[in-house]
Amino acid sequence: MYDYLIVGAGLYGAVCARELTDAGKKVLVIDKRDHIAGNVYTEKVEGINVHKYGAHIFHTNDKRVWDYVQRFATFNRFTNSPVANYKGELYSLPFNMYTFNKMWGVVTPEEALAKIEEQRKEIKGEPRNLEEQAISLVGRDIYEKLIKGYTQKQWGRECSELPAFIIKRLPVRLTFDNNYFNALYQGIPVGGYTKLVERMLEGIEVRTEVDYFKIKDEESFSADKVIYTGPIDAYFDYSLGTLEYRSVKFENELLDIPNYQGNAAVNYTDAQTPYTRIIEHKWFEFGKDEDGNDLPKTVISKEYSSEWKPGDDPYYPVNDDKNSALYKQYKELADKEGKVIFGGRLGEYKYYDMDQVIAAALNKVDDISNH
Ligand code: UDP
Repeated sequence: MYDYLIVGAGLYGAVCARELTDAGKKVLVIDKRDHIAGNVYTEKVEGINVHKYGAHIFHTNDKRVWDYVQRFATFNRFTNSPVANYKGELYSLPFNMYTFNKMWGVVTPEEALAKIEEQRKEIKGEPRNLEEQAISLVGRDIYEKLIKGYTQKQWGRECSELPAFIIKRLPVRLTFDNNYFNALYQGIPVGGYTKLVERMLEGIEVRTEVDYFKIKDEESFSADKVIYTGPIDAYFDYSLGTLEYRSVKFENELLDIPNYQGNAAVNYTDAQTPYTRIIEHKWFEFGKDEDGNDLPKTVISKEYSSEWKPGDDPYYPVNDDKNSALYKQYKELADKEGKVIFGGRLGEYKYYDMDQVIAAALNKVDDISNH
């Protein structure tokens, strides 16, 4: 008999497991995959830590979270500066003076602002969707070349049907600053995320390739409480209908060259290129192995976005009105499940970043301990 059965060995589950174990609870972590670390899982190929479920760049403004993760890994000084490729034209991201200079030839912040002001006039009143929000932030030219195609590929929906908040994730700056995130702290754990999660789970019982729905009534898995980090609709057997998710598929290639694109991430922002971005994993760690030697080969991943269907891995909740309303109904059911806590990107149907997931897990354990 366990105090806690934790379903899912991703960040939310691992943080809860660590904290509850340290508080003296008996914990079992299960995961239906054959590995820990959920979607932050990394795997070493030719000395390169490959982000198997897409690029993960740790960034946060939350000192508590930053201090917390330092306990389990050393972070390098990687700064995310993706490049946008629009039909062969290269632009700096996020939207900053380098981007504006390339787009319009403007040189000063004042000139850039004047261009944006002129173009944002077409939006009257509060932006009602992502398209209006984007144009009102950076104008139509940038929207057409750097936002529209990418967003439609990523979400499989028109920008006019998507919530405005998604694009607010991206900073807009009138300075020459290609740092994608507005974060005080940023980096990649040296040795990969799998090692970080392994350290979090040190000394804790973990069983992989275990499907919660198959074992939940088995005596050997019984626990006082369950922390469930899988999709909330799956937990309730889709009784109110299915929530929509976006999934991502990767085409990985090992290339016998040292440098494919000169950057960790290149976004393909036109509508025709079938993938949204190409990740070249070695650049998350400056192209070096653990001993500081240059790596002779490279691994790239082309990222294809698709609508989730049963059997796929869910990656992104689709937080449009329809899905948000359905989630609310599931949440009401969830609140009545006294024994089960729902958490994480899938359990809460929320577009969480890694630091937010960790903060949510730490808060949840604080909550539990205070009641
Ligand atoms: N985005 C965009 N063009 C880009 C990169 C991002 O329009 O080149 C927008 C797009 O709407 C996307 C959102 O910003 O859905 C967040 O994208 P990002 O790639 O940062 O999200 P991630 O997939 O990394 O969570």
